[in-house]
Amino acid sequence: MSGKLFLCPTPIGNLDDITLRTLNVLKSVDLIAAEDTRVSIKLLNHFSIQKPLTSYYEHNKREKGSYLLEKLLNGETIAIITDAGMPGISDPGEDLVRLCIQNGIPVEALPGPCAFATALVASGLPTGRFAFEGFLTTNRKNRLEHLQAICEDTRTLIFYEAPHKLLSTLKDMEQVLGDRSIVLARELTKKYEEYRRTTLSAAIAHYSETPPKGEFVLILQGADAEECRARQMAELPSCEELLRIYAKGDLRAKELTKKVAEELKIPRREVYDTYLKIKETL
Ligand code: SAM
Repeated sequence: MSGKLFLCPTPIGNLDDITLRTLNVLKSVDLIAAEDTRVSIKLLNHFSIQKPLTSYYEHNKREKGSYLLEKLLNGETIAIITDAGMPGISDPGEDLVRLCIQNGIPVEALPGPCAFATALVASGLPTGRFAFEGFLTTNRKNRLEHLQAICEDTRTLIFYEAPHKLLSTLKDMEQVLGDRSIVLARELTKKYEEYRRTTLSAAIAHYSETPPKGEFVLILQGADAEECRARQMAELPSCEELLRIYAKGDLRAKELTKKVAEELKIPRREVYDTYLKIKETL
């Protein structure tokens, strides 16, 4: 008989948020796999849970995954917990779940604390359709590309961010997405819980004066599709500019006008007319 994997959410601040069912599962499983055993031991001690504990985190997930799978195949039950919140949400868990499913091991997820769901429902921004974007990468080029890719997404957008990167993230968001409404949900369920319902530009002004502290979820208004398209058009080079750029290569008139028309998504005839007007100066 095979065992079972339980995904156990833990509090994101307030210890009272652990559920009775999570406590019962943690007390009954054979083994608990924790993202950081030093963090989780405090939680388990608080609830007087004494169970064998092993680590499972980003950099050992391959070897540890095989180790945990073997135990599950031998009939053991395992609970996975992370430092806070729902395993598998910007936290370890996803790979282990996949491994279990591939090997026919049952997986049970317990409902419970999750920072983004908590922030979203209290934000006041639309909850009907949203996209969870997690953490943006620290590589600026990739970060800008990521933001560019979601520039026209009309759903509410949700991000996680660390305080020391908050200001540069807000600035990049404003640069790529324009000034939008944002709700900064800080220190949820903790003593200094705060919802700052504001705009990107006002948030930048505020955190330039007052350095951000604590943990943040950012809930950003989705795109106004029309505005986004207009901004992109304004940023595009003109037909003449693009003709001059590509004319520096050795393209012939036909290839040149085709390339520019494709890039600007305008009719070739229109590009050709411009070409005729400026061709002596190219
Ligand atoms: N698995 C967790 C969950 O279910 O929300 C998320 C883990 S992720 C490594 C940690 C990030 O979640 C933090 O950097 C912050 O963006 C967000 N977060 C976690 N706890 C929070 C809290 N109490 N208040 C605001 N944001 C929090």
